[in-house]
Amino acid sequence: MRIVIVCEARVRRGKQMVLTPQREIILQELRHATDHPTADELFKRVRCRLPRISLATVYRNLESMSRAGLVRKIQAAGSQKRFDGNMFPHDHMRCVSCGVVLDSPTPLKPDPLDLPREIQGHRVVGYSMEILVVCASCQDSGAAQTDS
Ligand SMILES: [Zn+2]
Ligand SMILES: [Zn+2]
Repeated sequence: MRIVIVCEARVRRGKQMVLTPQREIILQELRHATDHPTADELFKRVRCRLPRISLATVYRNLESMSRAGLVRKIQAAGSQKRFDGNMFPHDHMRCVSCGVVLDSPTPLKPDPLDLPREIQGHRVVGYSMEILVVCASCQDSGAAQTDS
């Protein structure tokens, strides 16, 4: 389990984020998405509304919104970063075969309410835990057996 914190320096500076119209559209798209898109996937969606935006801009905005606590970054070793606009505490299931990230319908222990508010000057903002699964569609296609 990983405990997610805001480092001491950032706690001092506090949250300051200007929501530019561009940022707001990215945030809206992300909040509508339930599939935890990568920056690249989100770029393709916002491009309909912001035809002149670049992938780098989307990426930069996602990173800064994640630092400001507006979006969640889901990072797993060896796979592309994904983003989540749902800030309500919830756990994720990640398919070990295709990499899809799904919301877990039932919360895992430990209860996030049991987390300390602060660890050595770092403000705790949540925790992240991942359930590794072989998703239903990968099972159907017979693509993945974890032990073969
Ligand atoms: Zn899968
Ligand atoms: Zn999620």
